[in-house]
Amino acid sequence: MIAKYGLDEGVEPQKYGLGMKELWEIDPAKHAEGTVTHTMGWPLNGNAGGGSFIYHLDNNQVYVGFVVHLNYENPHLFPYMEFQRFKHHPMVAELLEGGKRIAYGARAITEGGWQSMPKLVAPGVALLGCAAGMVNVPRIKGNHNAMLSGIAAADAAAEAIAADRSGDELTAYETTVRTGAIAKDLRRVRNVKPLWSRYGLTASLGLGGFDMWTNNLFGLSLLGTLKHGKSDAAATGEASKFKPIDYPKPDGKLSFDRLTNVSFSFTNHEESQPAHLKLKDPKVPVEVNLPKYAGPSARYCPAGVYEFVEKDGKPEFVINFQNCVHCKTCDIKDPTQNIVWTVPQGGDGPNYPNM
Ligand code: SF4
Repeated sequence: MIAKYGLDEGVEPQKYGLGMKELWEIDPAKHAEGTVTHTMGWPLNGNAGGGSFIYHLDNNQVYVGFVVHLNYENPHLFPYMEFQRFKHHPMVAELLEGGKRIAYGARAITEGGWQSMPKLVAPGVALLGCAAGMVNVPRIKGNHNAMLSGIAAADAAAEAIAADRSGDELTAYETTVRTGAIAKDLRRVRNVKPLWSRYGLTASLGLGGFDMWTNNLFGLSLLGTLKHGKSDAAATGEASKFKPIDYPKPDGKLSFDRLTNVSFSFTNHEESQPAHLKLKDPKVPVEVNLPKYAGPSARYCPAGVYEFVEKDGKPEFVINFQNCVHCKTCDIKDPTQNIVWTVPQGGDGPNYPNM
């Protein structure tokens, strides 16, 4: 809808983070329902921005997750392996040892915030919640704004129905979002993400904090509204300019290889259907993305859908679409913007339990 109606004209490019999550059942002695832990940075070591979350649910279950901001430059980065490495930090390893992973999933998160929010309405169309990018990144939450946008859209739709209108623009919805609680929440944190992108995590913590402080107290920012600049795809650098990263092998206890973990997403796609991941030009992966960017789709996909295999002495690009967990990272991060995620046949995809 955004592309069809040009709803993002004149706004900053949307930004994203790839969130990966595992559900664990842990030793009851280590479980403390309601405990929330967040970390920033490690083990990304300056190669990308991101951080983790660990939430203790009920029934001795724990969510362990890791988010990698998709504006990273080094195409050798392997977000999934960063997540696996994270679980070997002594604090996390101690928590998970003796437990078992019972589910795995991944999803891209819209992180561009206020300056990336597209026009929200078109004839018969309204963008709500994450579709419009209403996540408050420093607060690591978007549910509150998703619910508020649902209420505002329902109010506007009810008003339109009562007035016998149909198929026009719900402009009242757009006005409520841009002048109400959602605007207030997103406007005051609008510079945090661009500051992270520009100055890295440590340097931007103080500056971002100061900017949020002036916004909260005085309703203004000395920085104005910072731009994001490049899209996440365009941020990807050429492989020859970066060092490959050596990742330790998963140990099968705390860390797992991708395909084993994908089986815990319970994803399913009827094999006889056409692949729902389309290439605009089938030659680009081997002729451009492999030599120039070292074939980054083989790493950024958290489900191992994309592979470069050798056939008759030549590289061939393979799409194992059956494994897809619908995170949309390929559509976002492919440096040549050659991959288009489309909807597979009726209801196919991940089948997450309690995720
Ligand atoms: S193929 Fe694309 S949408 Fe599917 S899991 Fe991989 S990156 Fe995500």
